[in-house]
Amino acid sequence: MTATTVAFETVPLESALRAAVLRSRQWLTPGYVRVRLGGPQLRGFNAPGADDHVRLFFAPAGSPPPPTPEQWREFESREYTPVASDPDAGWVDFDLLVHSGGTGSTWAAHAPLGSVAAVAGPRRSNAVAGTPDALFLAGDETAVPAITRFLRQRSPGTPARVFVEVGETNRLVPLPTDDATDLTMLVRPGQNLVAALAALTAADRPSGKVLGFVAAESGVVPVARALLQDRWALPPEAVIVKGYWRRD
Ligand SMILES: Cc1cc2nc3c(=O)[nH]c(=O)nc-3n(C[C@H](O)[C@H](O)[C@H](O)COP(=O)(O)OP(=O)(O)OC[C@H]3O[C@@H](n4cnc5c(N)ncnc54)[C@H](O)[C@@H]3O)c2cc1C
Repeated sequence: MTATTVAFETVPLESALRAAVLRSRQWLTPGYVRVRLGGPQLRGFNAPGADDHVRLFFAPAGSPPPPTPEQWREFESREYTPVASDPDAGWVDFDLLVHSGGTGSTWAAHAPLGSVAAVAGPRRSNAVAGTPDALFLAGDETAVPAITRFLRQRSPGTPARVFVEVGETNRLVPLPTDDATDLTMLVRPGQNLVAALAALTAADRPSGKVLGFVAAESGVVPVARALLQDRWALPPEAVIVKGYWRRD
């Protein structure tokens, strides 16, 4: 790492599986919900990186929390990004897209307060080595928590070019923008992230050392790599591109 480069560096974390209960639910838009999990086992929860993720295990309705991690791991689980946490008070917030059906989406929308779940991880964290001159962030609703954290964690005034694709009901999803943020909201079905990224040319590259993060439906992956690594020639270590879910 030199003063002229910026990179993601993977840092291992001490991982744990922590039982918790659903403490609160706040609808951020008609299709996007913030759930708070809390409990004594969440004290000390640590997810320092913007795109750190955990696996949530959902106990069936009415089930008491199983006593061992092995028994928790027999339940259904999905991956999510902790958007905020308080390791002293013992809570973690997650923002979840509510879509047409699935264990995680249904739990986020309908599980009664007090339902039990477990938070496993994060097992590793993506730290940023060096100081980026600009951020390029793109994703759909599933990436809004990570994009939110990248925006919050950057040095004040660092320019951020942001593309977010949402459904019509989620066009008001909250993002911590400021004067240095250039945000394009793409609203389905008329607009989409794949087409927006494919339309960007070499001339659209932010100048200087750019950190790139793109996460959405897995079809975005080749399009984002072609933009960030081929047309913009960002070094692979300065780029995270991930499929966060797969359309059936
Ligand atoms: C590292 C990582 C971090 C993630 N962070 C978040 C997060 O913070 N918030 C969040 O909401 N999601 C996040 N996701 C995505 C989430 O894990 C998936 O969307 C997951 O499939 C949801 O599970 P489910 O039980 O609701 O649906 P599933 O049971 O997995 O799928 C049921 C059906 O719903 C469809 N489906 C799944 N996801 C979506 C979607 N997003 N939009 C439309 N249809 C969908 C599937 O194609 C399938 O047909 C993250 C994923 C990864 C890998």
